[in-house]
Amino acid sequence: MRRMIGTSWKMNLTPSEAADWFAVFVPLAAGLSDVDLFVLPSFPALSVARDRLAGTAVAWGAQDVSPYASGEHTGDVSAAMLADLGCRYVEVGHSERRREHAETTGLISSKIQAVLRAGMDVILCTGEIEPAPVQAAIGQVIADLDACLADVPADQLGRVVVAYEPVWAIGPGRRPADPQRVGRVHRAIAGRLGRGSDSARSRVVYGGSVDAASAPRLLAEPGVDGLFVGRNALDPRAFALIASAQPGR
Ligand code: PEP
Repeated sequence: MRRMIGTSWKMNLTPSEAADWFAVFVPLAAGLSDVDLFVLPSFPALSVARDRLAGTAVAWGAQDVSPYASGEHTGDVSAAMLADLGCRYVEVGHSERRREHAETTGLISSKIQAVLRAGMDVILCTGEIEPAPVQAAIGQVIADLDACLADVPADQLGRVVVAYEPVWAIGPGRRPADPQRVGRVHRAIAGRLGRGSDSARSRVVYGGSVDAASAPRLLAEPGVDGLFVGRNALDPRAFALIASAQPGR
């Protein structure tokens, strides 16, 4: 299975800054043909992604979506709007949205349904909030996935990329989780989602303070299908370096 390396810019990079980012990244991405790359800009920069990534192999998408189809939901953006724009992916369930917008597993489940119905794929974030023994973390993550994915039929699970993101490892001043621990959680997630053929099975990527130094050891761990990068991808050269990392100890 090809490695998957993606980034969410969160609430960073204006449309103009996004254009500058793509101007640097697109030539570098041409040399990264052995990985599946994706970029999730903010809503206002999505059309910049569409224009700058046209004709490249780099996928792109949004960081959130409304669970509603249309209508009286001021400020929200529907799945149909994102699909019409050309999004391939929509991220749901990030810990910052759960924390700042009180998103529940029920709401996340509704968003997942909206994304799948509109023909896009899901990037579903999950992870324990506080450091916990690995078995306890696995229990929390599986319970969260069971709730978020309750309405996704087994034959659609391959359209869901799971991003394991221990919340305590995310953001400035934090460090990535230990690769062996990450591998154990990923293998538990893969076991829960069912394996199936490579093309049908969900990929499980790791997010939380990934950088070029930590990427090789994380990628070397069985079960780690790729990486999801936050702040260390805001420099396009740094993201390209992470994306070019090879598994190694
Ligand atoms: C994230 O929040 O999804 C993330 C991976 O952030 P960071 O890499 O900045 O920890």
